[in-house]
Amino acid sequence: MTEPTSLPDPAVRVADARELARDLVVVPDGGVPLVPNIGVIGGSHSVLVVETGLGVRNAEAVLRFAVERARGRKLYLTTTHFHPEHASGAQVFAGEATFLLNRDQADDLERKGPGYLEVFRGLGESVARRLVGVELVRPDVVYDREHTLDLGGRVVELRATGRAHSRGDQVVRVPDADVLFTGDLVEAGQFAIFPWFPPHDADVSGTRWLAVVERLAAAGARTVVPGHGEIGDARLLTEVRDYLELLRDETWARRDSAMGQEAIVAEVEALMVRRRPEWAGREWIGKGVGCLCAEHRTATATPAG
Ligand SMILES: [Zn+2]
Repeated sequence: MTEPTSLPDPAVRVADARELARDLVVVPDGGVPLVPNIGVIGGSHSVLVVETGLGVRNAEAVLRFAVERARGRKLYLTTTHFHPEHASGAQVFAGEATFLLNRDQADDLERKGPGYLEVFRGLGESVARRLVGVELVRPDVVYDREHTLDLGGRVVELRATGRAHSRGDQVVRVPDADVLFTGDLVEAGQFAIFPWFPPHDADVSGTRWLAVVERLAAAGARTVVPGHGEIGDARLLTEVRDYLELLRDETWARRDSAMGQEAIVAEVEALMVRRRPEWAGREWIGKGVGCLCAEHRTATATPAG
């Protein structure tokens, strides 16, 4: 893993915004760790911002950018999940935008948000600086499973996926442009991020995550905006599905033969790195194995051929 102090400044660069479709832009992460891909989606009377970036100053830049684009249209904000680089700037939007979340994510934010801020402050000076003055705020509107937001001549579908990368993941779909914002359910060019830190955080579920991306892959999308990494097409969905499936099968096959967890991690990590030598985030493979070991049930495990 990168030395904490050497993490680059996780700055959102709104000047790099790219138009994916009419009145639909993404501020790309620029390949910088702890910068998410951020969406600004417009309709005739309203504009939805997806993700705030890490901390107050990033969120201020995103809000300024959104206000300029909105030209008087009403603003909404949502985030794909509560992790700080996606959601920790929401306070900046208070009074400017209606903050809309699925219930499980709102609960995550309240229960686990403060602890995650502390952990992130320990990741290095550049990150801690970004988190100065952050105060977590509650959403204005909370929905349970699905919410359709009418922006005027364009609807956006907000869907709670159920527990996967976190307990309260949400995806955002723009049907007319066939664009899907996945948050960290999908990353491009890196191994799936498993925030598996028992006993502090054991909400991530490899099996449920796989079920979610199976559904997303079956539904497809012309353009997929991952939580981090290059914007792509539906192949991003099948790549993550295939990775999680293989991770589960290889982990469980070894668990069935009563191999110890350390040995499983070593073998599966080596296998996955051989398969995807170009992917970053190798430190998350072992976390994923740990998570799937905890989810292993002999009755449902089938030996991998
Ligand atoms: Zn995340």
